[in-house]
Amino acid sequence: MYDYLIVGAGFAGSTLAERLASIGKKVLLIDKRNHIGGNAYDCYDDAGILIHKYGPHIFHTNSRAVFDYLSRFTKWRQYQHRVLASVDGQLVPIPINLDTINSLYGLNLTSMEVEKFFASVAEQKTEILTSEDVVVSKVGRELYEKFFRGYTRKQWGLDPSELDAAVTARVPTRTNRDNRYFTDSYQAMPLHGFTRMFENMLAHPNIHILLNTDYKEVRDYIPFKEMIYSGPIDEFYDHRFGKLPYRSLRFEFETHDVQTYQPAAVINYPNDYAYTRVTEFKYLTGQKHHRSTLVYEFSQAEGDPYYPIPRQENAEIYQKYQALMNETPGVHFCGRLATYKYYNMDQVVAQAMTVFQKIVDAHDKEPVLYRQGGIVAVGSGVSSGTKPQLIRS
Ligand code: FAD
Ligand code: UDP
Repeated sequence: MYDYLIVGAGFAGSTLAERLASIGKKVLLIDKRNHIGGNAYDCYDDAGILIHKYGPHIFHTNSRAVFDYLSRFTKWRQYQHRVLASVDGQLVPIPINLDTINSLYGLNLTSMEVEKFFASVAEQKTEILTSEDVVVSKVGRELYEKFFRGYTRKQWGLDPSELDAAVTARVPTRTNRDNRYFTDSYQAMPLHGFTRMFENMLAHPNIHILLNTDYKEVRDYIPFKEMIYSGPIDEFYDHRFGKLPYRSLRFEFETHDVQTYQPAAVINYPNDYAYTRVTEFKYLTGQKHHRSTLVYEFSQAEGDPYYPIPRQENAEIYQKYQALMNETPGVHFCGRLATYKYYNMDQVVAQAMTVFQKIVDAHDKEPVLYRQGGIVAVGSGVSSGTKPQLIRS
């Protein structure tokens, strides 16, 4: 009998497996893939280069609690992520900053002058509702079209005006020369990769792992008390309220006989080519090797679910599932797919920690059987007929 059946060995499932095992719970962690780590999984390719199988993953957070927690399972390599965008035949910094504007327009503006420039081209909006509003209200329509419109249409199959503001709001606009993609207080890559970090998280005798296993095929055969589910929420309820759309990706990997192939870790292609961005892994991992592997990302509607699609009509479908989730006792939902949230890794870890705390709090309130000198006695506060669930020695 397992205390917990955990579906999905990504950040959500692995954090909860580790936390629950640490308080003595017996956990069975299953994943339908042949590896742990979920979408953050990394491995060595045939050329011996450490790659991220499901696209580039860069760890960044403002949460000390999350960083400290993960630091128990990995050492870190300090890494500041920088991205260039290919626009009008030039490679310029994205997020748009002072240098982006000066390079693009052949100017020599100062920070104050570029602020005035943005103000002169920005469109006035009374309300910022969509991903188009976010950008045009800051940098105007021309820059929006150069950097955001095409990329977003490729990535999501939707116009920015059809997506929630939060999507493009992930990418700020700067008037200084800071060309980092993220400005979080903690930015680092696991020194030996994400998979090694997951292995360390899950190396506990209370955790059993079953790979290549879809939970639907085994749920009736495995005895467990409670479940944690981190797969797609609509699938859990057999699409009762219809399918929730998730955006998928196709990855094309290329290895070249060069130390480095492109001038930055990631190059975004808002307007040219079918792919959105190209990542060269050695920048991220710091690996020294005479060859180099890159990944091209092609966005598509069908395939493994990678991104929830933030827009009102999808939020409405999710809310129906959420109402069901609240009425499904014994199952805890966590993660990017199960809670249909465009979360980064650190946000998923934080969410898992909150779920763990809720589980602990709920169990603390439950009727408890006290073992006293080998005799099981019912503790005070247990109403008759209530099924005790915790036994404390
Ligand atoms: P997942 O990692 O998706 O894990 C869910 C697991 O559940 C999967 O392994 C799946 O196989 C399994 N599963 C699903 N259904 C079943 C079933 N029926 N039975 C058994 N198993 C099942 N975040 C960052 O912080 N920084 C980044 O740079 C970054 N880059 C990203 C780039 C890409 C291309 C993508 C797609 C995401 C990126 N993210 C990034 C987000 C990050 O991947 C997620 O926040 C995180 O991996 C989510 O963890 P999770 O456990 O919720 O889900
Ligand atoms: N985006 C864009 N142009 C860019 C970078 C981002 O239009 O050069 C938009 C696009 O809609 C993208 C979103 O901003 O999906 C969020 O970008 P981010 O780099 O955070 O995407 P992720 O790494 O999650 O795929």
